[in-house]
Amino acid sequence: MKENQIPRRQFLKLGGVALAMIPVIVASGRADAATNASMRSALKYQDKPQDGKDCSQCMHFVPGASAKALGSCKIIPNDTEISPHGYCMAWAKKA
Ligand code: SF4
Repeated sequence: MKENQIPRRQFLKLGGVALAMIPVIVASGRADAATNASMRSALKYQDKPQDGKDCSQCMHFVPGASAKALGSCKIIPNDTEISPHGYCMAWAKKA
């Protein structure tokens, strides 16, 4: 066997994992959707405003396709599920 060949058993196992992921990706509706649970937890992110402050008013928020769509946050990497009505302890008023 050549050095860069994947053994048949391992190849079939990887194929099974890939097939098992299809319903998860389809159910989420967006193949690129992702959350960063550890950063959300560290910053105490919540899906609702606090004291009239929310992500849509924060300088770190990157809006989605529309005002109501989920967006992302400059300080929470690899998270595309930030609600414009969410909030976390790093909130900073947009200039
Ligand atoms: Fe929302 Fe916090 Fe990111 Fe500001 S820093 S956009 S409040 S998650």
